[in-house]
Amino acid sequence: MDTVSLSGKELAAAINADTKDRAAALTDRGAPPRLALIVANDDPASAWYVNSLRKAAERLGIACDTVDLGADASADAIRQELAARGTDGATDAIMLQTPLPSGITLEDVSSAIVATKDVDGVSPLSLGLLAAGLDGFVPATSEAVVELLKHHDIPLSGRHVVVVGRSNIVGKPLAQLLLAEDATVTVCHSRTADLAAVTVTADIVVAAAGRIGLVSGKHVRDGAVVVDVGTNEAPDGKIVGDVDAEAARGKAAGLSPVPGGVGPVTTALLMRHVVVAAENARMS
Ligand code: NAD
Repeated sequence: MDTVSLSGKELAAAINADTKDRAAALTDRGAPPRLALIVANDDPASAWYVNSLRKAAERLGIACDTVDLGADASADAIRQELAARGTDGATDAIMLQTPLPSGITLEDVSSAIVATKDVDGVSPLSLGLLAAGLDGFVPATSEAVVELLKHHDIPLSGRHVVVVGRSNIVGKPLAQLLLAEDATVTVCHSRTADLAAVTVTADIVVAAAGRIGLVSGKHVRDGAVVVDVGTNEAPDGKIVGDVDAEAARGKAAGLSPVPGGVGPVTTALLMRHVVVAAENARMS
């Protein structure tokens, strides 16, 4: 079987073109949309990601402040910065980078991000709104998976989607978004007894575990669609996904590449959220 590559580049370019226009309109009316990136680590992968977000923002006409609190910041210091940005009229959007300092979880501090500026949908309020089917910002990576499937005309209603991974920022919100699309959803995780036995029953498999090669040929039914969310550093320094692409290719009807699949759509949606937050703030 020919496996279609579910590239995210075309979709990301279309989203970015719209975002750029909307950012320019906001700038014409007074000030560019402004994103605050809060960092509390000295992790090289995080530094690379922050840099790529800064560049993406710059290309789209979005102002970006990076606040580095240091890798030994306390939970209180992080919460205080998040709260201060929440009341700062010049800041439209807030994103907290992970990893956080040792011993501090995202859940310890994310409630300090006001929902109207929570462009990556990580606060308990944003996640609760999503679970209840109410309006709010949703985690960009989860949204990117759904948008990528829609862009490639892959129907979701009535289909069985197996999500591998149950984190609060990818797997769980993705399950909610898929339910809202009328998919039948199964969520697997590190304690799932026989992963392959579950994933072979799927019309669509989404791998979001952060484990190189976790999803191989035996996990994929002939003709299923596979979305690879994983971004892992291979021993040779290259970024690879969670799917053994060689094994899945030829079996799957479609497979998203890493890089070039979910990643560019995620960044594009994050930047769109920044513009939406700014538009909402200027209207209120
Ligand atoms: P996480 O470590 O918080 O969660 C991983 C999840 O995978 C957990 O729920 C765990 O139970 C599950 N898991 C781990 N090993 C498993 C196994 N052997 N079998 C079944 N399930 C298993 O990670 P995360 O933050 O959710 O990120 C997941 C992956 O997605 C990572 O590779 C991350 O880099 C990537 N990611 C990509 C983007 C993007 O834009 N492309 C954005 C965010 C995260």
